[in-house]
Amino acid sequence: MLSKIIDQTKIDQFAKWLNKAERIVIVAHVSPDGDAIGSSLGLWHFLSTMEKNARVIVPNAFPDFLKWMPGSKEILLYDRARTLSDKLLAEADLICCLDFNALHRIDYMQEAVAASGAHKILIDHHLHPEDFCQVVISHPNISSTSELVFRLICRMGHFDDISREGAECIYTGMMTDTGGFTYNSNDREIYFIISELLSKGIDKDAIYRRVYNTYSESRLRLMGHILTQMKVYPDCHTAVITLTTKEQKGFNYIRGDSEGFVNIPLSIKNVVLSCFLREDTERPMIKISLRSVGTFPCNQLAAEFFGGGGHLNASGGEFYGTIDEARTVLEKALEKYKPILAACAKD
Ligand code: 5GP
Ligand code: MN
Repeated sequence: MLSKIIDQTKIDQFAKWLNKAERIVIVAHVSPDGDAIGSSLGLWHFLSTMEKNARVIVPNAFPDFLKWMPGSKEILLYDRARTLSDKLLAEADLICCLDFNALHRIDYMQEAVAASGAHKILIDHHLHPEDFCQVVISHPNISSTSELVFRLICRMGHFDDISREGAECIYTGMMTDTGGFTYNSNDREIYFIISELLSKGIDKDAIYRRVYNTYSESRLRLMGHILTQMKVYPDCHTAVITLTTKEQKGFNYIRGDSEGFVNIPLSIKNVVLSCFLREDTERPMIKISLRSVGTFPCNQLAAEFFGGGGHLNASGGEFYGTIDEARTVLEKALEKYKPILAACAKD
């Protein structure tokens, strides 16, 4: 049995809206990851079973390793189908905002979502949700939005209406947001849910292979190159990896190729913080990804130095300037957080 973590009043309100809704749009965050796509498609498959008219719209492209997901071809990319997306958002009577906590996380879509007169529900697990939806289902203790979607569907009494395809998407989101159940994954109810998803006929081992073992040769070579360049700051229990646009070109980089790189330095003994600085190809910006182990709050560092945020152990931000300037700022941050890093390394 699952604990009833979602408020009944919110479930009732959503069910009421769903009942009447004729044009539903599901929206997830920019540079969508496995959980953004998994939760969106998980909900979308359920709505399709219920014969509801729904579309998933995300701000921009998602990585190739998610393109096997059932329904992924139906996803609209806002940056490529803006006119249609704007029309769908304006005419929607229900918008479901999944896996983000603030409008700026949907980038250039934010105006269209904010302006729409649709009922809006937030289903998310990031800290400090902003106030842009009438119903807010926000559970930072839950490791993925996909898990919340599963819980919500079940609480509405519709477990039987989750298809194998929907279950595959939900499982993918749960798996990717926990690094294949290696972090944020000690809650025993996760495994109850997996058991329920398996009862739908999903092949979890095949899903793992499709997500993690379908990379290109050049991606693996890029990983080797990046790790050779890695800098370790032993006093700060931190490792930093970087990727310039020049290196991206040299290794035929495509979107998603650096997915997961930031986790690798955490396999070094005594490293509690891993930082990945990546030059963006489209904007003069450095994307910062941080991962920590144990109690080190990498989201606090991301917020304080890189205008970002996220979870305790997985966060990110942006830096406008060169990669060297970003490293200088990061080194300042490490200096400031050194005592906390050292304490966390002892835990
Ligand atoms: P990633 O490193 O995979 O890009 O991001 C990890 C997590 O950090 C995301 O799930 C999100 O919660 C958070 N995050 C990443 N980039 C940003 C950002 O620019 N701003 C904020 N507020 N959070 C971010
Ligand atoms: Mn997520």
